[in-house]
Amino acid sequence: MSQNYYETLGVSRDATPEEIKKAYRRLARSLHPDVNPDPEAQERFKTVTVAYEVLSDVDKRSFYDRGGDPLAGAGASGGFGAGFSFNDIMDAFFGQQTQRGPRGRARRGNDALIRIGVQLAEAAFGTTRELKVDTAVVCSTCHGNGSADGAEPITCQTCRGHGEVQHVQRSFLGDIRTARPCPTCQGYGTVIANPCEECSGDGRVRARRTLTIKVPAGVDSGTRIQLTGEGEVGPGGGPAADLYVEVEVEPHDVFTRSDDDLYCDVRVPMTAAALGTQIDLPTLEADTGVPAEEATIGFDIVPGTQSGETVTIRGRGVPHLRGVGRGDLKVRVVVETPTKLDDRQRELLGLLATERGEELVEGEFAAPHRRVFDRIRDAFR
Ligand SMILES: [Zn+2]
Ligand SMILES: [Zn+2]
Repeated sequence: MSQNYYETLGVSRDATPEEIKKAYRRLARSLHPDVNPDPEAQERFKTVTVAYEVLSDVDKRSFYDRGGDPLAGAGASGGFGAGFSFNDIMDAFFGQQTQRGPRGRARRGNDALIRIGVQLAEAAFGTTRELKVDTAVVCSTCHGNGSADGAEPITCQTCRGHGEVQHVQRSFLGDIRTARPCPTCQGYGTVIANPCEECSGDGRVRARRTLTIKVPAGVDSGTRIQLTGEGEVGPGGGPAADLYVEVEVEPHDVFTRSDDDLYCDVRVPMTAAALGTQIDLPTLEADTGVPAEEATIGFDIVPGTQSGETVTIRGRGVPHLRGVGRGDLKVRVVVETPTKLDDRQRELLGLLATERGEELVEGEFAAPHRRVFDRIRDAFR
């Protein structure tokens, strides 16, 4: 005995036929391949179907109750699972009529997606773009109804307007009625006697349009701008779908972006880093064509600034796409050591070194490695 059919269906040994039917229906709802793609569920569905095959049949059930296996030698899978859809089973066994009927000719079109590259300043401060878009538009010859002479579609003779054709297949559970879309009318229930030559009856044609789109300030790579109703129109004069424009921000040669903060490096001479100075820095706004004095900000390099230190200038980053305000501009200071010294400069720097007691410098690890070094040295003492 391969399995306990009662346990498989989750019913007691004295369950009524109605209870067995109910249990199988409940399990089929969660396990049928049409509603549950999980391979494990499909295996379980086969198992519960075999159990149902035995317990729903009076003779097989009593044979099983007496300790026999009514399916022995018949192939354990019971021959079921022959491609019946979930709806077919529900209709056939449980008297539920799934609403089908002909499908409408007019359907919503598909959404369309196009990608555009924008410069960093355009992404930050917004811009407009002219876009050439190839999408399906309503056929101007038939105005979307697909008929060359303007006549209404006529009832399909193959399916008599139902949009589907039925087959009856015999199985151990009785007759299973399966319905497939009508091959003559593709399920519409009607046919167009004299299709429009321009669109072959589809009601739409492809066309190129020019759209002006507004790219809002603050977009980033991956941001999608939705243009409602600018996608392709549906067949049969169906409503137009949406067009999505996905933004890809091109790299900038000075600024990099992380969220709404901008980053850049500025070089300052060693002496300026030591003494402190004021720097005028052209910001990203300079790329938008605003006057140079407006696009330039001044900020302080404080005396004793180290190489790699970052100065944060609040509110000069990218405007937030949602909400108000802007990110920050983070300027990393790169201190430059002079590489070419003339005699006088070398002498001056030498004097400075003497003054600071720095003529002979012992190499020292910068913290925190220094502490590690000390500990190792102490360990060897
Ligand atoms: Zn047409
Ligand atoms: Zn038909």
